[in-house]
Amino acid sequence: MRKKLTIMCSVLLFFLCAGGAETYASGKKNIYIGLHDKMLPFTKEEAFIVNGQAVAPAEKLSYYLYMKQTINKNNGLYIFEKNGQQLVVNIKTKEALFNGKAVSPAVIYTENGKLYVGIRWLAEQFGFKVDYLSHHHTVRIYTAIGSKLSNEEFLAANQSFFDQINNAPPTPIAYVTFDDGPSAQSASILKILGDYQVKATFFYVEPNIRYHAEITKKAAAEGHYLALHSVTHKVNPLYNSPQNFINEMEKTDQTLKRVTGQSSILVRAPYGSVPYLKQPFRDAMVKKGYRLWDWDVDSEDWRYNASSKARILQNIQAGIQRQKKSGDQHVVILLHEKKITADMLPAILQYLKKEGYEMRAYNPSAHVVQNFWKDARL
Ligand SMILES: [Zn+2]
Repeated sequence: MRKKLTIMCSVLLFFLCAGGAETYASGKKNIYIGLHDKMLPFTKEEAFIVNGQAVAPAEKLSYYLYMKQTINKNNGLYIFEKNGQQLVVNIKTKEALFNGKAVSPAVIYTENGKLYVGIRWLAEQFGFKVDYLSHHHTVRIYTAIGSKLSNEEFLAANQSFFDQINNAPPTPIAYVTFDDGPSAQSASILKILGDYQVKATFFYVEPNIRYHAEITKKAAAEGHYLALHSVTHKVNPLYNSPQNFINEMEKTDQTLKRVTGQSSILVRAPYGSVPYLKQPFRDAMVKKGYRLWDWDVDSEDWRYNASSKARILQNIQAGIQRQKKSGDQHVVILLHEKKITADMLPAILQYLKKEGYEMRAYNPSAHVVQNFWKDARL
């Protein structure tokens, strides 16, 4: 009973707590993690140094440190417990409590809706020792009882792990993008993405954001990147002048910000940026700090119906094989929020995983140029 009361008090205090961590934008350095005498299966870019601190995804790290996890993604509350100790993090407010006491915001980091924690801090709180083996970019977490090797022996014993990392070809990245939403299909698309643990990029049309405000919030909360796809989606008036085009994107961004609290810099021009987005339009976008994405794999899902929907997957397969041959490491795939696309989505995601792609949402701090004009400013 007392324990229950303490937890309730800490949760309450937690919501009253002011302040929070910043989200750092850039300057990442990759980190590997060892536990006792073995390396843990954290792959490239999963854990990294940001602002002088090594951080790792909280769910994965706490799993390997034998913690009990209670995660409610709807309200953003993450609870990690072990040996009667408890860490509570609210990912939405970035507030954290350890055994009821406020935690320095510096050890909590979020990116694309994902929670990271300072590796050293978390491990030490739960009774582990921590050494940083800088030459190998490795944080070693251990206890006197759990480990038998010195740091030198540890590195020698895990040489094959480091060999593999150094020789591995870079992982190609696929950006799955959906146009014209949010829509009546958004809920099922989000559900499938969640099941496959894939983050995507959505290009929204302004009236749809207002009409489907709840699903817009959900998409943002689940770590997808929400981007701008105009107000009218009509050649006239959208492309009548650069100012019209900018006005529509700004209005879409304002609505997005009002609904989700998040602003967007990424634009997809309706019907693609060729031929309408001539230089004066692009100059205006550069001036406003926008980025522009077309695509390099077109599913052509808008063409098909229930009886021909298998073609969506076939088009993606053909496009992926073509991009692979050309050596493209960053593939942007065009889909729309359609019922048949949602139907085909599990098969599409399975195919991309099988082909070795890591699927990511757009990340403004790791921008990739992807426009038909090859305009490097965008
Ligand atoms: Zn469109």
